[in-house]
Amino acid sequence: MRSACLVFALCACTAFAAEAPKLRLPDDIRPTRYAADLTLIPGEKAFSGAIDIDVELVKPASLIWLNATELTIHQATIASQPVAIEPGNDDFIGLRASKALAPGPARIHIVYQGKISEKSSAGIFQGLDGKEPYLFTQFESIDARRAFPCFDQPDFKTPWQITLHVRKEHSAIANTAPVSETDEPNGMKKVVFGPTRPLSSYLIAVAVGPFDFVDAGKAGKNRIPVRIVTPKGKASQAKYAAEVTATLIDRLENYFGIPFPFEKCDNVAIPLTFGFGAMENVGLVTYAQNLILSDPAIDTEQRQRTYASVAAHELAHQWFGDLVTLAWWDDTWLNEAFATWTSAKIIAEWKPEWHSRLGDLNGKFGAMGEDSLVAARKIRQPIESKDDISNAFDGITYQKGASVIRMFESWVGEKRFQAGVTAYLKRYSYKNARVNDFLDAIAATGQPQLTRAFSTYLEQPGFPLITVNLNCGAAPALSLTQKRYLPVGSAGNARQVWQTPVCVRYQTANGDRKECFLLDKPAAEFRLTHATSCPANLSANADAAGNYITRYDSALLAKLLEGNYLNAAERMTTLNDLTSLLNAGEIQQGEVLTAAAAFAKDPERQIVGLAQGAVGETRRFLPAGLLPNYARFVQKTFGTRAHQLGWSAKSAENSDTALERAAIVPFVATRGEDATLGDEARRLAAEWLKTRKGVDANMVNPVLTAAAYFGDRALFDTMTAELKKTTDRQQRSRILGALGAFRDPAIARAGMDLVIHSEIDARESLSLLVGPLGQRETEKLPFEFVKANYDELLKHLPVGGGFEAGSMLPYVGGSSCDEASRQEFVGFFEERARKFTGGQHTYDQVLESIRLCEAQKSARAADIAAFFAKQ
Ligand SMILES: [Zn+2]
Repeated sequence: MRSACLVFALCACTAFAAEAPKLRLPDDIRPTRYAADLTLIPGEKAFSGAIDIDVELVKPASLIWLNATELTIHQATIASQPVAIEPGNDDFIGLRASKALAPGPARIHIVYQGKISEKSSAGIFQGLDGKEPYLFTQFESIDARRAFPCFDQPDFKTPWQITLHVRKEHSAIANTAPVSETDEPNGMKKVVFGPTRPLSSYLIAVAVGPFDFVDAGKAGKNRIPVRIVTPKGKASQAKYAAEVTATLIDRLENYFGIPFPFEKCDNVAIPLTFGFGAMENVGLVTYAQNLILSDPAIDTEQRQRTYASVAAHELAHQWFGDLVTLAWWDDTWLNEAFATWTSAKIIAEWKPEWHSRLGDLNGKFGAMGEDSLVAARKIRQPIESKDDISNAFDGITYQKGASVIRMFESWVGEKRFQAGVTAYLKRYSYKNARVNDFLDAIAATGQPQLTRAFSTYLEQPGFPLITVNLNCGAAPALSLTQKRYLPVGSAGNARQVWQTPVCVRYQTANGDRKECFLLDKPAAEFRLTHATSCPANLSANADAAGNYITRYDSALLAKLLEGNYLNAAERMTTLNDLTSLLNAGEIQQGEVLTAAAAFAKDPERQIVGLAQGAVGETRRFLPAGLLPNYARFVQKTFGTRAHQLGWSAKSAENSDTALERAAIVPFVATRGEDATLGDEARRLAAEWLKTRKGVDANMVNPVLTAAAYFGDRALFDTMTAELKKTTDRQQRSRILGALGAFRDPAIARAGMDLVIHSEIDARESLSLLVGPLGQRETEKLPFEFVKANYDELLKHLPVGGGFEAGSMLPYVGGSSCDEASRQEFVGFFEERARKFTGGQHTYDQVLESIRLCEAQKSARAADIAAFFAKQ
């Protein structure tokens, strides 16, 4: 993995080699412009390159460090003078001049060769569509150095000029449009692209191959061209993306108040990715093919909504990230939390009928789970190693970050917040920014306390549990207290204080009023200034915009649960509050299951889904003898709705019904042990596997998964045989998804075996190691499999998108919930996990989760058994 130093006579790898930087480059030498020239031939295992880097030296220097990984340097000069190469380490090479270079400008020229990865998605890598190879790139966070020797840090923003030499029959795409194309010998051509705006290296991208181009119209004030780029012959699969992408750009432009900041927008499908689903490269956004393309005849509601949401995220980055870029990876949230938050806002306004704000809450609740661990990162975690960079792309940065932004937006007011966002983007256009540049821009719109308050959420992990008591004296008031939310068994310290804008909504004689209070100490009381008498109802987390758990006084909670005061987002949050309070040992199991049964009748499918989750998570703690009782409770609670919906779509349904069906019917079929639904699923699955017809597209995956749950070896063999014959990536993912759902341990093992003993690309098959984790019959098998096949497995693990697959392996131990399994987990992963970038953090999280599960089990198992014994 070292940058080779196989250089001809120039190389002077002396015994006195200078020590290479560990993480960051010194800042006394800065690049001012790049001109890179690459020869890219799909199907080959290497590429050749030459790069000119104009730099500015602040002081005299004889040694210049650059980032380079797995590049072989053939020749290097500075100001036309040959230089020696210091071998450095995995990430750096040094250029040593024979005499000191004077301060001022200089040009570095390097001729080199690099690798094209076939199995991973990092640097320059190959993607196969059928047998046809294509080339793509993925540079975030620190993989541009696999394609060019460069100053691979986000704070070095410079113009890039790219030239590609490719086969005549191929198309070449880069961040800007080509300015010339000329023929070259041996069936090649040279494509020269226009210089970019100042960009960070991680945002550079190219793609080469026999693509099809789909015109997706023009977008924004500057009418920039939008295209969907597909593998040859797949243009028809871009239908939905071509319909909606330009609209999303228009809406983002309106919100930001700044025209799309670059000259074009290509949206490119990559056959398989690892470590990322999509990437916001300037003017050349890449997507995993299953996100952006689908045969319209088998397209699903879920796929279309996911594309729209991901596209809005990546396109929002063209402003937040690409136009204004984080100065260092500790502000990754300035990119990711903002793109997540903006996407949610744009989608909710564009498609109100999707009720997407409720789906966003699921993202927030997931991040709260992560954030309740002592091992949780802060949103702004210091970056001291490559591990920290890799770990920065997690639920805390994305979903918690987005949730905290939404909380402060709700406090400041949407219009003022928007004005702050626009001012910030204008001030730092084509430059870098840091956390306070942003916070101060928002605070300047009229909320001077914002910078400090917001920082309490950025600079410490966790989130508050806020108790709410309504005091109804002559002047109605709320008394609030806060502590850190911690689950039962946590080793964390609850005495933590945030500055939380608590926005409440309550009933008055003059209608509903919203009022916000800044809770900045452990306890405080606030007058309800619009209330002349005690409010009959009060929501302590108005529109569910706050990033905290609420514990209401019991009288208030009883009224909220019985009445119809809360809106959908608040109802959903109230149910999540109850399950969270249960996990913290503050309320009883029966209370939550009774509430979940009531919420199961809610008209909003997302709330029903959350109720399903509250019932679903108890099953792992249940004695086997009570599983029939559990199934009866599932039937009683969700069965009627599941049978009304059935496996097949009815005419004239709204699009949300399709999603409701896909969630609730398989749940009742499997967890409710429903023989009627189970038989029907097997019949439908057999028909679909034979003819690829007869099942509503939205239901193919749920049908196959339920059939597998009840299925035998013959069904498994049919599925794997069909997988072999199937080239369509959407259909493949549906079959692969079902292969992890078999309950028979021998079949589940055969499914996991496909990861190492089949032709399937690991980027596609690794999901098979996660499939069995959710089921009590098979949940221990992935860990057993990893232990038994560790060395073989290592040969198949990809890297990509800044992640090493090996760093995620500890997750297979996540279903352990007793001391013996925990010891086994520690024994196996303690040393192995830290060999992968980011692995230590995964290990710490999983180990803490196992401990907490043990504590949950001892706190709740008896109550769970008592509740279900009565069902
Ligand atoms: Zn992003």
